[in-house]
Amino acid sequence: CFVSFEGGDGAGKTTQRDLLGGWLGGLGHEVVLTREPGGTALGQVLRDAVLHGEDLDPRTEALLYATDRAHHVHRLVRPALARGAVVVTDRYLDSSVAYQGAARELGDDEIRALSLWATEGLLPDLTVLLDLDPSAAARRRTGAPDRLERESLEFHTRVREHFLALARAEPGRFLVLDAAAPPEEIHAAVRARLAPLLPA
Ligand code: C5P
Ligand code: MG
Repeated sequence: CFVSFEGGDGAGKTTQRDLLGGWLGGLGHEVVLTREPGGTALGQVLRDAVLHGEDLDPRTEALLYATDRAHHVHRLVRPALARGAVVVTDRYLDSSVAYQGAARELGDDEIRALSLWATEGLLPDLTVLLDLDPSAAARRRTGAPDRLERESLEFHTRVREHFLALARAEPGRFLVLDAAAPPEEIHAAVRARLAPLLPA
């Protein structure tokens, strides 16, 4: 069973991924918690390049994310799924479609096709979109913003709108939740939606 958390920076994806991991572990599942970019050793190098690199044009950036995803899926995600583990990732291909495809205007279909090529077509069983107004998200973030977090409010608004459009297009895969709700409430809604999808 493969679950992704999506949403803008500061929406609480990592918190919810970890809460879900704790619950799944308590049920006796093998759980693999991971993230993109940076779920493998090579991925960490690619993450540093993409967050701190200089002069990255949008296509180079999109290919770095796609490289990270290909390696992550082949090295970590598919082997874990084959063992019967539940894999929960902080970001997956919808982030690329929203950030590179829509906000950077490289094209939604092209970026989705690139990701599906990179992963040999692996889609999550469930994608939880933590939806949050970008100005509220900016207030929640702590620490020094990375290169991408310094993007304009307009950029982050395009990302948000596109995530919501992706969720409307695939209601069977997506669960959209208000990220401003209390974390325990969000977690309960995720548990309720995921429970019937879990292996016995
Ligand atoms: O959520 P996380 O901190 O891992 O994301 C790192 C940064 O990369 C964020 O600022 C996010 O906006 C950006 N990002 C991106 N395109 C992706 C994935 C993440 O611009 N496909
Ligand atoms: Mg971040």
